[in-house]
Amino acid sequence: MNELNIDVLERETKVVLPENLVFGKIYADYVFEMDYDEDFGGWHNATIKKFSKVELHPAAIVLHYGQSIFEGLKAYKQVDGKIALFRPEKNIERLNRSAKRMCIPEVDPQFVLNSLLELIKLEKDWIPTKPGHSLYIRPVMFATEPLLGVRASETYKLIIMLSPVGPYYPEGFKPVPILVTNKYVRAVRKGMGEAKTAGNYAAGMLAQKEAKKEGYSQVLWLDGIEQKYVEEVGAMNIFIQFKDEVATPSLTGTILPGITRMSVIQLLKDWNYNIHERLVSIDEVIEAYDNKKLIEIFGTGTAAVISSVSKLKFNEKLLMFDENKPGDLGTKLYEELTGIQYGKIEDRHGWMTYID
Ligand SMILES: *Cc1c(COP(=O)(O)O)cnc(C)c1O
Repeated sequence: MNELNIDVLERETKVVLPENLVFGKIYADYVFEMDYDEDFGGWHNATIKKFSKVELHPAAIVLHYGQSIFEGLKAYKQVDGKIALFRPEKNIERLNRSAKRMCIPEVDPQFVLNSLLELIKLEKDWIPTKPGHSLYIRPVMFATEPLLGVRASETYKLIIMLSPVGPYYPEGFKPVPILVTNKYVRAVRKGMGEAKTAGNYAAGMLAQKEAKKEGYSQVLWLDGIEQKYVEEVGAMNIFIQFKDEVATPSLTGTILPGITRMSVIQLLKDWNYNIHERLVSIDEVIEAYDNKKLIEIFGTGTAAVISSVSKLKFNEKLLMFDENKPGDLGTKLYEELTGIQYGKIEDRHGWMTYID
């Protein structure tokens, strides 16, 4: 039976958060750590301890063969002072699905959730209270065994770190330009596209860099075989609103199954939108645009919640939307999701987990 050790000293000073929080640059004082070793009964050594660097052997399997997965979720200080997390059990479920795909041993989801809630309780002063701010939670799980032979590691580490973050768009919810690429591929069916694993992000960096150079903030990936179907954007899923339907690419194994995506689908169903998960070709999107049947496109993900698209470029074709104002549906979804997260709107689906 795994037990949580809490190795906490008296806090010497009060937490003081900087004025401007840059995403993922500063960390709370404590982390949750747990080790895996078959010879020690699997996952063990679960501890909440002071944030510290990790010592790794240069032959650690993660450095050579990339057995590494992560998650991303947030804790919020709500308008009435309550502390709440958005659907954390879904992130732990997905962590275990990613683990399975990358041959990493799964964790006990209830134990990890309880440990995370203990950590947040301890570090609640690190949750910023300003509007649009939150405490980003980043679990990472990786192979630590030193071995140059190619096989799955026999030892692993899970660390959950916390990072206070400001709003994703400090100047306000602003539409972003997206470049559709057919020069590179992110994932193929039966590969690892649906796992939140390190290599998928390394695979996308060159395309991302080239898009930035052209003035686009993100890349929209097409399917890896035909380069025909729309898949997802950087670290966001994508939704396309046509005149009589809202569509999002179906989960065929190449797309990260986003928790924001899942929640947006639920909200659209609640509001009686004609929402479908299906294959959407880039040609269909362009044709709808030319025929004035395309209303808006937006991305969904934990970091930005909703990200409206200002323009979409595919080869020489340019699709233009309102550059200054996000679309109506994106805005409505943004207001609803953040309303639930900050406790301003009733949580009808029981999505929030509270810390007493
Ligand atoms: C994390 C991620 C998403 C969004 O998932 P959420 O659970 O909504 O944050 C989408 N695509 C990729 C590639 C991601 O890594």
